[in-house]
Amino acid sequence: SSGPLSGRVALVTGASSGIGAATALALARSGAAVALVARRQDRLEDLARTIREDGGQAAVIAADLAQPEQARGAVMRAVAELGGLDILVNNAGLMLLGPVAGADPTDWHRMMDLNVLALMHLTQAALGPMKQRQRGHIVNISSVSGRGASPTSAGYSATKWAVGGFSEGLRQEVRLDRIRVTVIEPGVVATELTDHITHQDTKTSYESRIRTMTPLEAEDIAAAVVYATTQPERVNVNEILIRPLDQG
Ligand code: NDP
Repeated sequence: SSGPLSGRVALVTGASSGIGAATALALARSGAAVALVARRQDRLEDLARTIREDGGQAAVIAADLAQPEQARGAVMRAVAELGGLDILVNNAGLMLLGPVAGADPTDWHRMMDLNVLALMHLTQAALGPMKQRQRGHIVNISSVSGRGASPTSAGYSATKWAVGGFSEGLRQEVRLDRIRVTVIEPGVVATELTDHITHQDTKTSYESRIRTMTPLEAEDIAAAVVYATTQPERVNVNEILIRPLDQG
């Protein structure tokens, strides 16, 4: 299809809902062939159908990214099915908020495995195919919680801070291979993210706080990904921080 990303292949993790689904659709509408990665295959098939009806190209890759071999395998499958890889959007994530003292440590492991280690494995696996194309773009979805922290965000902020540190070192290494690195830091976005919070008091108070504001929509973050990935090759958009106007 036509568009600024025509001829490019993008892999989007967490494409079954929220920011990832909106981003995959937006990249496809910009002309990219997209590999849709998450666990819920039915959701991915629905999105793939929408993209194809739109005239775009999509591949469905069901994977549990908390398993390193499945994360790395998802990259290999995308390359095999779509013929290469130009753009990796590391979006899949969990926000299991809760106070440090009362947290279930299992939550920390789940967040570290997905928000940090899956992102690192996916990135490493993507570098070979990107070097082969002599260009590439890695977009990491962090959070305002990657720049600041508040009570109940310590564990989540630790994972998003890790994303920031990894991305900055990576950026300096791979620019020599014409690979760009962008970190996007959204404030509150209306998605399924809060559904998974296990600490019930925190879940209740966070959800009631969101009801007092007009949050961002997933499409607002997708637009930032499209902005970064459609700039001329000389432009390396390093970081984008976006809050809803209502968020202080
Ligand atoms: P959603 O819960 O809607 O989306 C999360 C996605 O991650 C889903 O597609 C889910 O798919 C996928 N996922 C979860 N676990 C796994 C796994 N083990 N393997 C593969 N995929 C997995 O939330 P958002 O869209 O809001 O979140 C996307 C990113 O945005 C996250 O990194 C989040 O931290 C970040 N973010 C969100 C903000 C917000 O306010 N919503 C604010 C700042 C950052 P499935 O369950 O099918 O596997």
